[in-house]
Amino acid sequence: MNSKSYRLDRFIHKHTDFSLSDTRLLIAKKRILIDGKFAETANQRVGDFTHLVLDGVCLNNKTPLYLKLNKPKGVVSATVDAKHRTVLDLISHPRKSELHIAGRLDLNTTGLVLLTNDGAWSRTLSLPATKCRKTYEVTTAKPITQAYVDAFQEGMYFAYEDITTQAAKLEILSETRALLSITEGKYHQIKRMFGAFRNEVLGLHRITVGNVGLGNLAPGESGALSSEEIESVSV
Ligand code: URA
Repeated sequence: MNSKSYRLDRFIHKHTDFSLSDTRLLIAKKRILIDGKFAETANQRVGDFTHLVLDGVCLNNKTPLYLKLNKPKGVVSATVDAKHRTVLDLISHPRKSELHIAGRLDLNTTGLVLLTNDGAWSRTLSLPATKCRKTYEVTTAKPITQAYVDAFQEGMYFAYEDITTQAAKLEILSETRALLSITEGKYHQIKRMFGAFRNEVLGLHRITVGNVGLGNLAPGESGALSSEEIESVSV
């Protein structure tokens, strides 16, 4: 996994009252343990979840957390909101205050939302280079035709951002239902893609994000990601 790392001296300086030069002395005097072993040099790399101990006192007690949630309609993809229930309101994990959302859904979109306290992991997920594929079930007001399949594959021009969307795969399931998979997440992207055909999206449900699926989570339920699902996120 592509975890963010920091120089050991800067990391200790940030988490304690010690100056940078004092920090280097602590390392030289073997007062710092990294994952159970004495720190060797000031420029050694450590990450958010490295276990660091100074004179027997743990400096950072963070362990990574990865959850998935089946978001119901009308729940906002935010951690706090004055008006609506948030995805965090639906989670009962004791450490839920550490979580942030890795890829939001619109208020009325349902389905898979990922939450984590691992900033490097969620950044990797959203990097264009990762090309993380997300699949949605779409229900529209008017019929979906082959012209949509071709146009989505070709890329749609969004004048506001002056960009053309990446090739998207559309599989028509019935007259007004389809599976759409996209590898990016522009603002209201799917509604705007169908909007270009003057076809309103009546229902949008996210089924997968990369190799992570909803499993058998009922609307409003959440669960932990498996280690395979966590590891599958990489550039
Ligand atoms: N595209 C949309 O238009 N809305 C979403 O919630 C996700 C993708």
